[in-house]
Amino acid sequence: MLRRPGSGTRSSIAQPALLGKLNAYQVLRVLQPGQELSRAEIARSSGISAPTVSRAVESLLQAGLLEEMDAREAVPGRPARKLRLARISAQVVGVVIDAEECTVSVAGLDGRATSETVIRFATPPDYDELISDCVAAVGRCTSASNITTLGVGISVPGLIDARNNMSILSPNVPQTNGHSPAADIGALLPYPCVMIHETQGLCLAESRYGAARGRDDFALLDISTGIGLSVMDGGRILSGHSGLAGEIGHITVDLHGRQCGCGNKGCLETVASDTAMARQVGAKLNCHVTIEQVLAMARSGEYWPEEELSGLLDYLAIGVAAIVNLFNPGAIFIYGRLFELSDRVFQDLIERVRQRTLPPSFADCDIVRAQANKLQAAHAGIIEHLVDSVAPSFSAMSSSGTTKDRKPHH
Ligand SMILES: [Zn+2]
Repeated sequence: MLRRPGSGTRSSIAQPALLGKLNAYQVLRVLQPGQELSRAEIARSSGISAPTVSRAVESLLQAGLLEEMDAREAVPGRPARKLRLARISAQVVGVVIDAEECTVSVAGLDGRATSETVIRFATPPDYDELISDCVAAVGRCTSASNITTLGVGISVPGLIDARNNMSILSPNVPQTNGHSPAADIGALLPYPCVMIHETQGLCLAESRYGAARGRDDFALLDISTGIGLSVMDGGRILSGHSGLAGEIGHITVDLHGRQCGCGNKGCLETVASDTAMARQVGAKLNCHVTIEQVLAMARSGEYWPEEELSGLLDYLAIGVAAIVNLFNPGAIFIYGRLFELSDRVFQDLIERVRQRTLPPSFADCDIVRAQANKLQAAHAGIIEHLVDSVAPSFSAMSSSGTTKDRKPHH
């Protein structure tokens, strides 16, 4: 049978490109944050040949994701230069857009902050002002050093249409509805900007830099202005049909409850979020208080919200029990400032969860506090994007149809 002219050429071009990406991905898997390895050590750990490792390292160095440590930093007697994820030659910027306040900071490609500076400003109610304030803050962060900036990650609360890169429904930051902060901020800056749902960002950050390192099946519950959930299933974030999975905050728990920002009544986040706590304490004290003021009053002993906390933890326990029963995760990492009040608050929640969960699923699930924060979530979002563009993770590749295999080797 005659071969179609040119078909051989096409596959022989495509294959090395794909193999190169797979090898780069393997190198990045070995070079975890905080690790410094020579090419020979990477070859030993990954099982890839030394020349192949050298080629993969070269492409990662060119992309700015890795850096070669100065010879002066190398261990005496061992001349091989070490490589690590870039942190003095390149950086990323994280922007967290939240209901009350936006925060901006820089980090290395290992996700660790490269500067103490965190820029904070009140979230403008006007969308255009929000965009220009974000751009100005990114400019202040990046002009503070000569480090090359590779991109900006923007953490946003609310639903994101991943296909069109749009914020479609944000009950707590409605000024972003129907807009694309990533496209609008990106249009004014010379590097790529990507948007990530804040809870998915927290889930990624927990998995890369926090307590979930090495885990493939876990959930992250975010209790702040609203309530969000992200589930890592087999090393992949469960996204749902259109990327909207995980909206546990908008499950009805009170049939005749308060109006929620989403349009429904009695959603979990109307009774179990920071916002709910602040509103209830405000009603008790007959004044407007923020969650920061509630935490400060509780810490100083001025007002301990015993009754409000008890009601909130009961509702929260229903949410956590649902996660355990539905997804059977190996662990749930819970992010929330309320637990800063005292260890007793978190223990109290776990006891209430135990009472509402199927015993075998509960027994097999560690419920612990999350370590990652929202700035790390924004950093993780852009780092994941940059890594995917050089060396796609297998979740990204299988969803784009490049390969059906999730992992190359075990
Ligand atoms: Zn709702």
